[in-house]
Amino acid sequence: MTTLLDALRATVGAAHVLHDGDLSAYEVDWRKRYRGRALAVVRPGSTAEVAAVVRLCREHGTSLVPQGGNTGLVGGGVPDDSGRQVLLSLGRMQRIRQIDADNLTLTAEAGCVLQTLQQAAGEAGLLFPLSLAAEGSCTIGGNLASNAGGTQVLRYGNARELCLGLEVVTPQGEVWDGLSGLRKDNTGYDLRDLFIGSEGTLGVITAATLKLHPRPGATMTALAACGSIEACVALLRRARQRLDAGLTGFEVMERFALDLVAKHFSTLPQPLPAARWTVLLELAAPDEAQARALLEAVLGEALESGEVDDAVVAESLAQSQALWHLRESIPLAQAEEGLNIKNDIALPVSAIPGFVTEMADTLRALVPGIRLVTFGHLGDGNLHYNLQAPQGESAAAFLAQHEAALNQRVYDAVMARGGSFSAEHGIGALKRGELARRKSPVALGMMRAIKQALDPDGLMNPGRLLGP
Ligand code: FAD
Repeated sequence: MTTLLDALRATVGAAHVLHDGDLSAYEVDWRKRYRGRALAVVRPGSTAEVAAVVRLCREHGTSLVPQGGNTGLVGGGVPDDSGRQVLLSLGRMQRIRQIDADNLTLTAEAGCVLQTLQQAAGEAGLLFPLSLAAEGSCTIGGNLASNAGGTQVLRYGNARELCLGLEVVTPQGEVWDGLSGLRKDNTGYDLRDLFIGSEGTLGVITAATLKLHPRPGATMTALAACGSIEACVALLRRARQRLDAGLTGFEVMERFALDLVAKHFSTLPQPLPAARWTVLLELAAPDEAQARALLEAVLGEALESGEVDDAVVAESLAQSQALWHLRESIPLAQAEEGLNIKNDIALPVSAIPGFVTEMADTLRALVPGIRLVTFGHLGDGNLHYNLQAPQGESAAAFLAQHEAALNQRVYDAVMARGGSFSAEHGIGALKRGELARRKSPVALGMMRAIKQALDPDGLMNPGRLLGP
């Protein structure tokens, strides 16, 4: 193996092949659930270097695990514990290659941090709307590889819908330049869409051309207190009817999710402390006066009809940011509380109230004292339906004893309602068993055929997504 390491050093520079010392930032996932061991962490600085690294690994029969910001939640971006995989970190590839204001596109390298792209678009007077709580450290390569969703999907779509073109290094070490900024290009199979959501199993995304949008004149954020999940869905229906494409965010948070935030981040103000369910709405409009008038009208009607018990509209940008901060602090508060069972589920919005009510009874009967942390992107039919150990019980013991049975109940109920067991986080290592069990044999057969055609030697992130 010394020869491979020497060749890698000669290719990317010795300083960018990390072999000894503490590599936990790369080898342990964000949730600290997966701990792998890499042969080396290799940090190429250009597409040509990525291609050379892939070719070298190929010659040595060594598999690769691409990694961006290592914020993924399904254990897909860390190596296994064999000590034989090369971890390919894209973190040095941070160049914004072009902003084309007339074409409303931005082309950037895969290691660009999402927040940096949002800022660059903003400085050009435009908007890159992909937005999630990990935006300060996740990368656009990782966002596309996992087809990330986030808080603006309702209006702008997920990562797939925000991407026009890709540059990819194939498992053979060739470079596919598909960096098109075209909205229309019907010239055969859509290779771009194949790589989006492929979680590093088909090739390495090295750059992307992304869709920008005009910046709305004003955005306005509000919190509304609802007495039930049915009332939240009724408010969503009303908000959609009244605000149409102006509605850019619609998030729900059950009381216990916000209680965890209060426990671990006690300085964050909670404007509606008594709410059983809290809804965060965001609206975009040409100017602030219109935004406020529209939002206040919708909330006024909802108060009158009894869907909403109380509401606050942010008075300033700082207040609006504080309301979003509350929502975005839930995963962090959960991480502070201890390891938990993460369920990132999608359902038709109409099926959500029935699911939430039935599941709470089922799971509490199965594990008395279980704590349900329910929050998420209700506007997209996407709930983070997370399960925390009963107060005072060991999280590790809870997972070991109950994870399989609880997940089976949750996913059976989700699938029976036409839902998905992974809405936006992907499959990685965590959900590969569910994929094998629950995806149709026809779909699995086509997925395996694609993997076999593009990566016949199984060098790209083996064991992830499709399993061994
Ligand atoms: P990594 O974690 O490094 O990798 C993720 C996967 O992509 C791995 O399989 C990896 O092998 C692959 N990969 C990474 N880079 C490349 C590349 N260049 N080429 C090929 N494959 C690659 N997700 C949502 O969808 N919506 C949310 O609202 C959301 N909120 C989150 C909040 C928090 C606090 C955290 C920690 C995570 C959240 N996530 C959310 C998870 C989300 O998937 C990631 O944050 C993000 O999309 C992953 O980007 P990353 O650069 O960290 O990728």
